[in-house]
Amino acid sequence: MIDTLLAGLEGVTASYLVAGDRPALIDTGARTSAPVLRAALSEAGLEAGDLAWIVLTHIHLDHCGATGIAAAAFPRATVVVNRRGARHLAEPGRLVAASAAVYGRRWSLYGGLDRTAADRIVAAEDGHRLSVGPGRDLVMLETTGHARHHMSVHDEATGTVFAGDAAGARLAGGGLYPTMPPPDVDLDAGARSVGRLAALAPVRLCLAHFGPVPDPAADLALAADQLGRLRAAAAAGPDREALRRALADELPLEATAADPRSVARWKRLGWADANVEGLAGWVERP
Ligand SMILES: [Zn+2]
Repeated sequence: MIDTLLAGLEGVTASYLVAGDRPALIDTGARTSAPVLRAALSEAGLEAGDLAWIVLTHIHLDHCGATGIAAAAFPRATVVVNRRGARHLAEPGRLVAASAAVYGRRWSLYGGLDRTAADRIVAAEDGHRLSVGPGRDLVMLETTGHARHHMSVHDEATGTVFAGDAAGARLAGGGLYPTMPPPDVDLDAGARSVGRLAALAPVRLCLAHFGPVPDPAADLALAADQLGRLRAAAAAGPDREALRRALADELPLEATAADPRSVARWKRLGWADANVEGLAGWVERP
């Protein structure tokens, strides 16, 4: 695990390096994290020609923003991303503009996305496999809900699931809390995705925010419960203030994320407010 230090904060954004004959990096962190990522990969002993795969759980900028820079630094790496995200990596203009609108005054924490040549991108379907070595495949599983281009990565040999944001976030030291930012939250799909991950009975569940959880089955059950609470809160929408109050009743951030440092990070990054917008979008969409 690499802490890519979004906004200079520890314990918020994780990338993972799966070692093997054909090493895979799972998520790059934001563009602003590129120097940190680069240093960590070089510390792990990776030379420019060594990285085989850059695998993205989804194309939100805290996960994919350093992709263009990493692809340039590791010229033999192939980028694997959900089929719905592939063209945005090759032509990032629309994604970057939409992200700037979502992040608002916090945009500078993320810093955009450089393009990746289209012939280096694999548009993955559900069930797509990539080999990191003999008898060691990573399997891409569509786990939408957080976003329509979200995939989890299943390392079958070790029973590890890299869940991206499909099961919520647990910032270092804090409790699990859902992350449902705009623009394409789908609570029904989210619940199916959590069920799908639970059915894998993972030995290890690695969140993008942040790290392996203490008890995968317990966190997946908690994630399912939290999605139910989001659904209950959504009944108050689409009015933002009503949604905010309902969310504070159903899932109070302070009590749920628990640790004061973690709560402060949720607020500093604006992710709790983003949940209100994400939910409102879900309520408003036909
Ligand atoms: Zn995220």
